[in-house]
Amino acid sequence: MYCKKCGTQNDDNAWKCTNCGTVLQQATPSSQQPAVKVSPSPQQPAVSNYLVQAILCTLFCCLPFGIPAIVFAAQVNGKLAAGDVAGAMESSRKAKIWCWVAFGAGLGWILIYGVIVAIGVISQGDFPWQ
Ligand SMILES: [Zn+2]
Repeated sequence: MYCKKCGTQNDDNAWKCTNCGTVLQQATPSSQQPAVKVSPSPQQPAVSNYLVQAILCTLFCCLPFGIPAIVFAAQVNGKLAAGDVAGAMESSRKAKIWCWVAFGAGLGWILIYGVIVAIGVISQGDFPWQ
C-alpha cells in the first residue's frame, strides 16, 4: 500500500510508513473486530418463561391444564420485550403454577390408569359383570 503523506510504497501489512513514519490507515486484524455486545440490556433481570416445561407438561401430563401454562409462558418473553418486567414475572409465576397443576393432574391420571390396569391384570378378565 502507498503512504498517503509521502507516496512511498510500503508492505501491505506494514502499519507505519518506512519513509516518513506516518501511521498507515490499514487496520490490523485485531483492531478491525468491533466490540460485540453479548447482552443488549444487562440491567434486565432474567425471568424464566417455563415454555419448555409447559410444553412438556402439555404433551406428557394433561392437555387442558397444559394449555394455560403455555399461554402464560408465551406471554413472558413478549412482556419482557415490552419492558414489563413485573408483568413478565407474574406470567412466569402463573406458567409455573399451571405446569404443576398439569403435572399433578397427569400424575393423578397415570395413578388412576395404573390402578385400573392393575385391577384388570389381577382379576385376569374375570369381571363380576361377565
Ligand atoms: Zn510516508
